[in-house]
Amino acid sequence: MNLPQERYTEREEMVKMQIASRGVVDPRVLTAMLEIPRHLFVPENLSSSAYDDRPLPIGHEQTISQPYIVAVMTELLELKRNSRVLEIGTGSGYQAAILSLLAEEVITIERIPDVADSAERLLKKLDITNITVITGDGSLGYSPRAQYDSILVTAGAPSLSCALIKQLSDDARIVAPVGGREVQELVVIEKKDGVIREFKHGAVCFVPLIGRYGWGGIEGCYHIDSKKNN
Ligand code: SAM
Repeated sequence: MNLPQERYTEREEMVKMQIASRGVVDPRVLTAMLEIPRHLFVPENLSSSAYDDRPLPIGHEQTISQPYIVAVMTELLELKRNSRVLEIGTGSGYQAAILSLLAEEVITIERIPDVADSAERLLKKLDITNITVITGDGSLGYSPRAQYDSILVTAGAPSLSCALIKQLSDDARIVAPVGGREVQELVVIEKKDGVIREFKHGAVCFVPLIGRYGWGGIEGCYHIDSKKNN
């Protein structure tokens, strides 16, 4: 791995003021947020805002998520050193880079070829070797590399496909924003000993998941219990 140290103090400030202060406690997540140079994942003209407490545009009407949200979602996955993770929505590649420090293998899938290519080039330049970038419709998951110990959806889904549940190993988690086009609920689906449980983790705003089981597609057959809160 070839991670430049520049702007480290800005990352320390980000981790302290935006992430730890809001309750993210997993030391591995906090360290990963310190180590990955977020400013390399944003467009050059926005580099000075790279450590701001907000999402930023990355072109093609897509965004790199707010640092706090990246940290929360990563913590909710409860990754282990030997985890195999599927990320749906590569975007800039930043979230995948964070995951790569916590898991053994990251497969990340992006529907826009140009976006996938830029992320892949950057991850290669940083010499991060445990990430595979796939171009395609992640609303179906990615069956050729299943089963996954964790699936992270980083675009807002109207519903989830049962295929995602089928691609989970036992003792595994999905973290996904599910709900409306503008605002979603962060949902954690846990599969353990064949039993599925759901938790909700508050409101979030993601760009839409577009695809067969996303916006513009058909309804996924996995139904989130809207009455249950945790
Ligand atoms: N994780 C990203 C990062 O670290 O920069 C941010 C993801 S951005 C909020 C959402 C991404 O999901 C966009 O790049 C979008 O093109 C992608 N996307 C939307 N629908 C998708 C689908 N069905 N399959 C794969 N990617 C999708």
